[in-house]
Amino acid sequence: MQSVYNLTLEELINYFLNINEKSYRANQLFEWLYKKGINNFTEITNMSKKIINQLNRDFYLDNMTIIKEEHDNDVSKYLFQLSDDNYIESVLMNHNYGNSLCISTQVGCSMGCLFCESGRLKKKRNLETSELILQVLKVQNMIKKRISHVVVMGIGEPFDNYINLCKFIEIINHPKGIAIGARHITISTCGITPKIKEFMKLPYQINLAISLHAPNDKLRNQIMPINKRYSITDLINVIKEYIEKTNRRITFEYILLRDINDRKEHAIELSKLLQGINCYVNLIPYNETNNNQYKRSKKDTIKEFYDILKKNNIIVTIRMEFGSNISAACGQLRSKKEEA
Ligand code: SAH
Repeated sequence: MQSVYNLTLEELINYFLNINEKSYRANQLFEWLYKKGINNFTEITNMSKKIINQLNRDFYLDNMTIIKEEHDNDVSKYLFQLSDDNYIESVLMNHNYGNSLCISTQVGCSMGCLFCESGRLKKKRNLETSELILQVLKVQNMIKKRISHVVVMGIGEPFDNYINLCKFIEIINHPKGIAIGARHITISTCGITPKIKEFMKLPYQINLAISLHAPNDKLRNQIMPINKRYSITDLINVIKEYIEKTNRRITFEYILLRDINDRKEHAIELSKLLQGINCYVNLIPYNETNNNQYKRSKKDTIKEFYDILKKNNIIVTIRMEFGSNISAACGQLRSKKEEA
């Protein structure tokens, strides 16, 4: 028995063929799930009792619940309880261009970035495709508005849950599914290069963001252990390949940590590293947490860093801050429930 939201349209077609039903049943079911938003298979009006009974034997719909919400201006945070009593969070941001949901991909995270709160809770397991989908459907249901944008930047490393991530994208992007345009989907990774290579073969126009956070290996090794496996040179080579293949601009995220990676020489080194690459840099003022020594860079330092990149013809923005009052800002997500 599994959640029906684990299956792509193609997998549903196979399912129906296997139970000796016509393949168009899959389209019908997809529509009931994603366009009409049923809560129970018995709500389906264009299938026989026999099929509905079979669906009920083979699948369940929903196995997670929003147990808490917090709101702060244009940001809301939702805490989900999963069927095995694990907890994850999603963050909704109301932008002038639509409602954007930041979703989690794992219970915890194994990447161990030293500055990040989510990683303090070691990865317990990957989220299933259905658990990725239901974050979107449940929040949409709650707010009674359409979610137009999805950012995969919550708890977990998406490329460490690659297969479920790809199925999730296929379903939310599918015109018969939730139909969120690929250009409205952003995936953020700490830089698992073999998976970036696989990802670039997919036919989507999805935005890719790389958490870079340092301009050289020595520094990146210190704050992001994953760099010892996939170095900056590896990463930049793969990114160049990605841009050539997909013709898409890439985003580099760079958190500014006081006196660690925010000096003038770092800005100059970063400008050199990214010279000639079709990218843009998102500078993120660090959101301080209680559990480590890192501090946010001073305002003037951030401006100076920005100016140096700009002067060197790097397209750069400073990320607007969202949700810090309700611990919903980047890197602050981790369920309070899980706090040991
Ligand atoms: N694992 C993925 C996605 C989740 S983290 C990744 O590494 O990209 C989303 C972003 O928030 C990453 O860029 C991460 O480095 C950043 N982040 C982590 N802790 C932060 C903090 N305290 N303040 C600001 N950004 C943070």
